[in-house]
Amino acid sequence: MYHVLVVDDDAAIRGIVAEVLSDDGHDVEEAESAEKALERLAKGGIDLVMTDIRMSGMDGLALLREIRSKDDIVQVIIMTSHASMDAAVGALKSGAYDFLTKPFENLDIISATAKRALEAVRMAREKNLLVATLTRNNAELERMNNFFRDLAIKDGLTNLYNHRHLQEAISAEVERSKRYKREVSVLFIDVDHFKTYNDTQGHPAGDEVLRGLAKILLDHARDTDTVARWGGEEFVLLAPETSSAKAAELAERLRAAVSAFPFQGRESQPGGLITISVGVATLAPGGSHETLVSRADAAVYEAKAAGRNTVRVAISGSPELASLPA
Ligand code: GH3
Ligand code: MG
Ligand code: MG
Repeated sequence: MYHVLVVDDDAAIRGIVAEVLSDDGHDVEEAESAEKALERLAKGGIDLVMTDIRMSGMDGLALLREIRSKDDIVQVIIMTSHASMDAAVGALKSGAYDFLTKPFENLDIISATAKRALEAVRMAREKNLLVATLTRNNAELERMNNFFRDLAIKDGLTNLYNHRHLQEAISAEVERSKRYKREVSVLFIDVDHFKTYNDTQGHPAGDEVLRGLAKILLDHARDTDTVARWGGEEFVLLAPETSSAKAAELAERLRAAVSAFPFQGRESQPGGLITISVGVATLAPGGSHETLVSRADAAVYEAKAAGRNTVRVAISGSPELASLPA
């Protein structure tokens, strides 16, 4: 059932229109002025307004404009005498659905015009509903897409990139580095005595440490770096456009930040701290990529042998290792 508001300062006209629309099965209310009509409209629930154009106080055109400024669903039909046809045309321009001329030649035209206007109301409502549903579905779809993309390229524990994505990122960076003759560096990071930590603090606490390390790594990385969990307690930071010296500085900053971080239960570790060993390798312009990570890994091995909590740099292009100047 639709709700129609008939607005006219002439009670007889209101009565005729209201009776016709009631007979059509609509719920009809009447208002004797535009002001009263606005009061009723403010309460909501009205689908269609049939209004006289000339009324003392606020006129039908002003009422129409007021409705249009607030609502794009409610339709308005203007009722006008032959004498004010210009005003009727103006009303259409201001967004009235249609107009009826008084005196009414026959009553069917009231029915028919109201019916068309209410059909427009129904379609506008349906369209809004459809748009809202589509918008919701789109947002949902985007969330799902992001979720599945993350699932494929992120590590579940730390939310860092996973091993597979890192491999792809390294390949792409090495290609870029060859084409544009740029350096690219890799930091291989391995937690010291992590088995001991798990054994004394428990595996869940170990997981917390891995998450904390991930955050420290991200805090030190640039937007263009790729930070990944290589596996277990090993991480890799891929740093494009980064020289061996710059990468070594970054590695040293990371090492210091980790050893300074007050991880829960670290006092039970050898040395009383959670520490990392870092190996750095840099691909010189035009170098081959196969050995980049393995050279960094070999540098980590050297760092471990040198007592851990330290950084070692693989000399660019050769397996030879150099220790970072103190
Ligand atoms: P090192 O200083 O030589 O690196 O000693 P380490 O104990 O860190 O090295 P090792 O390779 O012997 O042990 C790695 C440990 O990391 C063993 C394993 O339990 C732990 N680990 C690997 N993955 C996870 C994980 O996802 N969560 C937790 N809590 N521990 C992990
Ligand atoms: Mg390890
Ligand atoms: Mg380790």
